[in-house]
Amino acid sequence: MRCRICNSENLESVIDLGQQPWANDFIKKEHIGEEPFYPLRVVYCHDCHAAQLDYTVKKEVMFGNHTYLTGATKTTSEHFKRVAQRVDEEFFSNRKDKSVLDIGSNDGTQLLHYQNMGYKALGVESSKITAEIANKAGVNTINEFFNLETVKKIDSKFDVINAAGVFYHLEEIHSVCEGIKEALKEDGVFVVHFIYMKDIFEHMTFDQIYHEHLLYYTLETIGKLLNLHGLEMFDAYHSGSHGGTIIGYVGHKGTRQASERLCKMQQAEQESNCNSIKAYRDFNQKIEILKSKTLNYLQEQKKLGKRIFGLGSPLKGNTLLNHFGIGTDILDCLAETNPLRDGLYSPGQHIPIVLQKDLKENPDIYFVLAWNFKNEILERNADLIKEGVEFYFPVDVDNY
Ligand SMILES: [Zn+2]
Repeated sequence: MRCRICNSENLESVIDLGQQPWANDFIKKEHIGEEPFYPLRVVYCHDCHAAQLDYTVKKEVMFGNHTYLTGATKTTSEHFKRVAQRVDEEFFSNRKDKSVLDIGSNDGTQLLHYQNMGYKALGVESSKITAEIANKAGVNTINEFFNLETVKKIDSKFDVINAAGVFYHLEEIHSVCEGIKEALKEDGVFVVHFIYMKDIFEHMTFDQIYHEHLLYYTLETIGKLLNLHGLEMFDAYHSGSHGGTIIGYVGHKGTRQASERLCKMQQAEQESNCNSIKAYRDFNQKIEILKSKTLNYLQEQKKLGKRIFGLGSPLKGNTLLNHFGIGTDILDCLAETNPLRDGLYSPGQHIPIVLQKDLKENPDIYFVLAWNFKNEILERNADLIKEGVEFYFPVDVDNY
């Protein structure tokens, strides 16, 4: 294979999580065991330093009908609202007739916040079922993959283009960048959200590695990609979302000066050495240490006769369950709040998913897979905690 960003062949395998099913392939009982497995391996490019998967599960498989709903959690919706408010305050509060395009707009949660501030909004969403939900909620959404071809069909320019949690998904990354370049007004702002590799290292959130995330950016590597397409990041800030996300403001190259805040972040990144191959090799060892620690804990608890349920069935949870080999011998079920996953089974480990509100009894321990909603989970389950139910976070960003 060649590097997805710079086309080099000088790649080295650094993290190997084995053969894994596509993490969003939640299955019906009658199809258990039929899910295909693919290599889940991160390679490092010695030329541009980009970390990426060396195997691509086709986008039609991954994004044709996914069941993730942004609006299903309060934390995400509130986070998106703050993002939209900041963009408007910083750039467009005085503008009339403003417009926004959202790439991978999901159920329209992000665009609703913009619409409420007077923006004309258009969503592009590849999942048919999710696009329908957005349209019903009053957010104009087309059911397509975003790329240059789609932009030509839309034939319109936007003040804001937003891409939350999708920019590292995209198989046709260069065509996507060309599409953004084409659809962004001369003084428009492309708002890119991406999980930050420096945070993945520092918080041990290795479960962010799954087939949908083809690229794992740092400021250096995303900068190189944007640069290839006449785009440039001029400001960025850090958010705690997903254990560490960067929200970058990008414009046409040469239109704005880089902010002091961005320069400081770039400097801190270089000082941390997170663009080096050594950082990846060290991280790989730490994953194995976390695996032994987690399995020891779970096995001890089972020996004590404790009943353990998983909490949440996020995609990242499947990376962790499959890599650590945690199955129904340890977890009775995965308790969920998203109704689209009710009654399905987790890919690989085939753990049944049950809606938390339908559970007849509580476990002794909740093994929390959706760790990025820690505060919301602890708040929502305050009564259970009082009753003595333990909430164990195998990945706990507060511990690092
Ligand atoms: Zn490269």
